[in-house]
Amino acid sequence: MGWEPEIGGRVVAGDRIDGRIMPVDDRFEPIDIHVKRTEGVTITFADDFVAEFNLVALRLRCPCAECQALRQRGEDGWPRPSSPIPLEITTAEMHGAWGLSPTWNDGHATGVFPFELLRQWADDEGERQDR
Ligand SMILES: [Zn+2]
Repeated sequence: MGWEPEIGGRVVAGDRIDGRIMPVDDRFEPIDIHVKRTEGVTITFADDFVAEFNLVALRLRCPCAECQALRQRGEDGWPRPSSPIPLEITTAEMHGAWGLSPTWNDGHATGVFPFELLRQWADDEGERQDR
């Protein structure tokens, strides 16, 4: 693929056309991912929409089965009794072309955030602010 999200830096997709597996809607295709370990994740999509995600908000919406089960019991996925505070992202990797897979500083790494879902959250947030 020739590109990866860079921790604390900025990476712009170069040869993403060659690396593309299937045509993706511009709205769901990230062209720039900026992970700030202690703050959040900023994603620029191919239609030039920039979405910013706060670390804690992201973690509380972690789509993995473990966190979903916690939420279904009315508990938060973070912080747990053993969680280091503050929350940080240790590393982040692309999961195929469709999702971002962060590793958190408490070792949690099972959540993959699909770009389509992240974009949906950002769009929903924008609509709430417009009201
Ligand atoms: Zn999770």
